[in-house]
Amino acid sequence: MEYSNDYLKITGGINASSHLKSKANDLAYTIGSLLAFADVKVVKTYSVGSNSSNTNSVWFTTLTSENTPKGFKQVTFRCAHMNYADFKKLGIKIGKIFKRGEVCYMPGTGGTKYSHIHIEFGFGKIKGSGWYKLSNGNWTISTTQGSCHIWEAIYMRKGVEIAKLGDYRDDYAWQYKKELQSQLTDLTKVNVTYKKGLNLRKSIQGNVIRTLSCGNTEIFDSIHFLLPIAKDGFQWAYGVKNGINHYFQLDLKCINLI
Ligand SMILES: [Zn+2]
Repeated sequence: MEYSNDYLKITGGINASSHLKSKANDLAYTIGSLLAFADVKVVKTYSVGSNSSNTNSVWFTTLTSENTPKGFKQVTFRCAHMNYADFKKLGIKIGKIFKRGEVCYMPGTGGTKYSHIHIEFGFGKIKGSGWYKLSNGNWTISTTQGSCHIWEAIYMRKGVEIAKLGDYRDDYAWQYKKELQSQLTDLTKVNVTYKKGLNLRKSIQGNVIRTLSCGNTEIFDSIHFLLPIAKDGFQWAYGVKNGINHYFQLDLKCINLI
């Protein structure tokens, strides 16, 4: 998944005192509302209310495994400091789904002095209460596969203007989609669960051998991606099973690779 906004301003990076030992960042108000990086679901809210101390925190998780710089992963992230009025405006509640590119969170002053979004990512699902207190008193996200850096969870998009100020460091190891494509090769022993019908063909233009129906899982000995990804987001690939190639068009937003 990719960063969705056109502008990124990190005013408190991973070295900010309130972030030490966690992997959190503060995104400044000038980025405007945060656009969802992928289709995400609200899985927890905390400290919801209109008092100045309420942080109106929200935990989001992706609906499917997402292509991240660390491979196909479910990604969970926590945002804090939205104002209650915006929380209400976005209709946030457990189970609400935001589609990729939709406004999913807004900067605010809930529980903080200056308007920003505190954000931290983890791989896997939310674990336990979704966070825990570190020895230095800071809080960090709790997920089944552990916390991760923002540059490990999302790809940066070309053309995004990145403002560097405050605690932001140049050593954020952003990766771009070109690298995403080149790593899509030679997966082995992979389960594919498709969200829509998936036609398996003898060749790219060949007859349909059979159709993998929605929600079913197919186990291939290996999957090979044929570059590049088409403009419509589909990509041809073939899965090898019992020595036979099965060609299919993948919509990378609609598959789970496990
Ligand atoms: Zn913060």
